[in-house]
Amino acid sequence: MRRNMDNSVIEQIANEQLAKYVKRGGVHKVFNEIMEAERIKFRKVSSLNNNFVGALTKYTNGQLYIMVNNSIDNDGRTHFTIAHELGHYFLSHQLTQNAFYCLNEEIVEEGVWQSPIEQEANYFASCFLMPEQKIRSAFLAMLAYSKKTKTKDFLYVKNDWSFGVWSGIKVDLMKRYGVSEAALRYRLQQLKLAKFEFIA
Ligand SMILES: [Zn+2]
Repeated sequence: MRRNMDNSVIEQIANEQLAKYVKRGGVHKVFNEIMEAERIKFRKVSSLNNNFVGALTKYTNGQLYIMVNNSIDNDGRTHFTIAHELGHYFLSHQLTQNAFYCLNEEIVEEGVWQSPIEQEANYFASCFLMPEQKIRSAFLAMLAYSKKTKTKDFLYVKNDWSFGVWSGIKVDLMKRYGVSEAALRYRLQQLKLAKFEFIA
């Protein structure tokens, strides 16, 4: 029986790789350099199966590939998928039948996952794309800067003044970290920096 990894261990592994590969800015900008250094080949593939999002596979010659479905139409989702597949790699998940084929419902940017291995890869992706120290200081600085803000250390987003503050902050953070709004919200909630309860 495989023992599940603690979130703190996963976060530490993500931070070690970030320290190694990222000088400044978001990790999504250096995905190609990371894969090259780790000798992983990257392919965008067309799949008729829309449920297929990404995969980490090993060819019989030992070559590793990260494949992403090229029909994914938003960059945030593509970045999360690559980070998720890198998670399987850096967390040394044992490849079954030489591959992880990760389906749409397994690569979840927010919420709960069924399989522990997929959950670990998702948590890795979240930490990798949005490292705690960086996102915490960026978020709090933006919150402090916002003139409409009434709270300085936490944002409870509802259908009031807070919604406008959030709309201003989110665009910048999504761009900086190359993530979707869903992934960003989930990370901020996880770090107890924000809570969301608005009706769009
Ligand atoms: Zn997976």
